[in-house]
Amino acid sequence: MKKVYLETFGCQMNVSDSERIATTLEADGYQITSDEDSAEVILFNTCSVREKAEHKLYTRIGQVRKTKQNQSALIGVLGCVAQLEGETLFQKSEGIDFVLGTKAVGRISSAIENTSGRHQTYIDLGEREANYEWSVSEKQRHSPYVAFVPIIEGCNKFCTYCIVPFSRGRERSLPASNIIRQVLDLRRQGVKEIHLIGQNVNSYRPKTDTGLENFVGATPFSRLLRAVAATGIERIKFTTSFPRDFHPDIVDAIDENENLCNWVHLPVQSGSDRILKAMRRGHTIENYLRRIDKIRASRRDISLTTDIIVGFPGETIEDFQDTVKLAEYCQFDMYYMFKYSPRPGTPAFELPDDVSPKTKTERFLELEQVLKRSQFNSLQKELNKTVKVLAEGFSSRTNDILSGHLASHKIVNFEAGKELLGQIVNVKITECKSNTLFGKIV
Ligand code: SF4
Repeated sequence: MKKVYLETFGCQMNVSDSERIATTLEADGYQITSDEDSAEVILFNTCSVREKAEHKLYTRIGQVRKTKQNQSALIGVLGCVAQLEGETLFQKSEGIDFVLGTKAVGRISSAIENTSGRHQTYIDLGEREANYEWSVSEKQRHSPYVAFVPIIEGCNKFCTYCIVPFSRGRERSLPASNIIRQVLDLRRQGVKEIHLIGQNVNSYRPKTDTGLENFVGATPFSRLLRAVAATGIERIKFTTSFPRDFHPDIVDAIDENENLCNWVHLPVQSGSDRILKAMRRGHTIENYLRRIDKIRASRRDISLTTDIIVGFPGETIEDFQDTVKLAEYCQFDMYYMFKYSPRPGTPAFELPDDVSPKTKTERFLELEQVLKRSQFNSLQKELNKTVKVLAEGFSSRTNDILSGHLASHKIVNFEAGKELLGQIVNVKITECKSNTLFGKIV
């Protein structure tokens, strides 16, 4: 039985793809190992969102090739970098045996067979198989209690700074009946929380209505949310939502169904219409704020999180101040913030990167203050409340402390024994630090 070591870079979608790659390998008689030195096949499932992630891949391949034990191991590069670079990867980094694109990962076993003992490279950037199996074996899930369920792959939006539409191709929604079957299976296996995932989940548009016929909703996505809620699984989260396609009915679906979690991740990227247009985001601040007002008016106290880029080409001090104002208005509960860095292969790469590194850093720090404050205020609101936490694992520091999420996706650490793992428990919040809550079991 050949041993395979699989390392994953990047987002939830990549983690989810890796779970399926491991599931396929396991079914074909391979053994997944966490020890790269004993592996006969070493796989890197790669991320291309930032150039840095791509460079990390080349460093890792170099490291692996230097260790004596790995001299004869096969090395395969999979996923986004593989799709974008194709044949050129063999020149860019020595020692790669095969390259599999984002949609070819289901053919991982053939790639290994085609390169084993043949001293020749192999490449497959082809389309996904019609009968591609989307479900993941229990053993290969990243958590026994939380599962990712892809509902849409690819992206049609072509934001000017983003490489994803080139690495993951056009949007394709999975049939609702397939998604619902997976959720029912996961529920039977004891999974408590599922994350419906995709680059833009709310752009969900399946070819047929099969599986959604009995559900009402203004868009196929809000019908899907109601259909998944009807499976009775305890918690449903979804990410990422695209502002232009965010229909107010999604909030109504959350209001109606307690198991649809009170968390919406809605990346705004900038508070300036001028910059949004240059980013080709397809939404304006006015229509973004209309959505925020609807979310904030929910009876469920929906946690609102976002992504923001500072220092996009052409961003003036006024544009930046508009972003600060927007952040003050929205009072985001959590955020991811990035300094713009040009990504080769994207339209924005052709624009002059004219905000200096110093200014980018200053703007980053100024905006961070505002976002940190609203995040802290949001966490403080939980103080002295008794909240429901899914005990997902041990805290990174010690095995006496468990860690998990609220339905609103806030993280809570609390003292408890491992027998509570996998349960949704009542915890009284006693302390709040910059991005984590601490509490005691009640
Ligand atoms: S919506 Fe924009 S930022 Fe998101 S994946 Fe698509 S192109 Fe990239």
